[in-house]
Amino acid sequence: MVSLTKKRIALISVHGDPSVEIGKEEAGGQNVYVRQVGEALAKQGWQVDMFTRSSDRQQARIVQHSPNCRTIRLVAGPQEFIPRDELYGYLPIFVQEFQKFQLESGFQYPLVHTNYWLSSWVGMELKKSQPLQQVHTYHSLAAVKYKSVSTIPMIAKTRLQVEKTVLETADRVVATSPQEKEHMRSLVSSKGNIDIIPCGTDLEWFGSIARSTARRRLGIAPETKVVLYVGRFDPRKGIETLVRAVSRSAVPKADLKLIIGGGWRAGESDGKERDRIGSIVEELGLSDITSFPGGLSREILPAYYAAADVCVVPSHYEPFGLVAIEAMACGTPVIASDVGGLKYTVVPQQTGLLAPPKNEAAFAEALDRLLLDSIWRQQLGHTGRRRVETYFSWDGIGSQLSQLYTQLLEQSAVQLDPVSA
Ligand code: UDP
Repeated sequence: MVSLTKKRIALISVHGDPSVEIGKEEAGGQNVYVRQVGEALAKQGWQVDMFTRSSDRQQARIVQHSPNCRTIRLVAGPQEFIPRDELYGYLPIFVQEFQKFQLESGFQYPLVHTNYWLSSWVGMELKKSQPLQQVHTYHSLAAVKYKSVSTIPMIAKTRLQVEKTVLETADRVVATSPQEKEHMRSLVSSKGNIDIIPCGTDLEWFGSIARSTARRRLGIAPETKVVLYVGRFDPRKGIETLVRAVSRSAVPKADLKLIIGGGWRAGESDGKERDRIGSIVEELGLSDITSFPGGLSREILPAYYAAADVCVVPSHYEPFGLVAIEAMACGTPVIASDVGGLKYTVVPQQTGLLAPPKNEAAFAEALDRLLLDSIWRQQLGHTGRRRVETYFSWDGIGSQLSQLYTQLLEQSAVQLDPVSA
């Protein structure tokens, strides 16, 4: 085997800027994943460049996060927010700008790790013009998203085709849960190489604050029962199910507090969902016990998880679901939909409970079971923390990805130069 020193590699995330503040607007799991993977790989000795599209003229073109890890913003289309479904037409410029950056820098990346279907297209195009290993993470699968829809938009057809091609041609596809791999096989293609490497979380940050301190900081009384949602405002996140479940709960409303954390942008799709959820809260008479604190910064997030009695992840589908492991890392039990990666992270009766998606009666029952039993909640929280420590640390995930990259680069070097094998 040829032994390779660790190299410069590129993570590509066209629409999920890894350096923005998370919790704002559309930013969510993909931004966190790319940033954390980038930083974890840098710790393993890789030189990590994370490429994204500039969406604001005021933003720096290059942001240095640590000596070996930076974000590079390429100008591909107007430097303003563009919804992800409208970005496809700008991808050829993104490819050109990436190539120009390589030329000006005097090197070529031997490996790119692409994120979401838009970036997968970029990776496949780059492969046509340079020797390159492509690793891909989907973050979301169109085949799952559009399964129950009879008429699909034009862009979805393109997306379905691109997602099939990348599965069949990438050097490795990373599924973040066994459930996601199963969907790729049953709904996308039987061809292609898939490894399962989950997402992770920062174990020192999440779990760094005690419940009582967190409640004092947030001004929540010790006896209040706190139900927490954290995430984007998107109908597929199932926030409506949670609100309706809280309304049905047997716990007296005077003792309950529902916190719905996440950012939105007025007039955009997340702003519309925020308004819709707000109307349901009002209609059900829950306004007095519900708060919308907006986007929660990384700094304050551990306090919210620690202060909560239960964190609810009511998504209709979730390839992984970072929020569940963040809450577990903070020792908070999770009630989640019985779907996708949530079936992998949340162990029913041990770290929380699972309920069928969209089933508000089942979520209400799960809420009551947990909220009325503080000793059981503590046990579930404790086991959840241990589970995250064992399986879902970013350092552990970084080391698994590092091994994968090393293996792919060694194989490609052998193919390029059989004499040195
Ligand atoms: N997040 C945050 N502040 C918020 C809302 C969300 O920091 O106000 C983070 C959350 O902590 C998690 C990510 O955004 O790390 C959401 O990831 P997840 O996989 O749960 O959902 P996705 O956004 O990928 O659908």
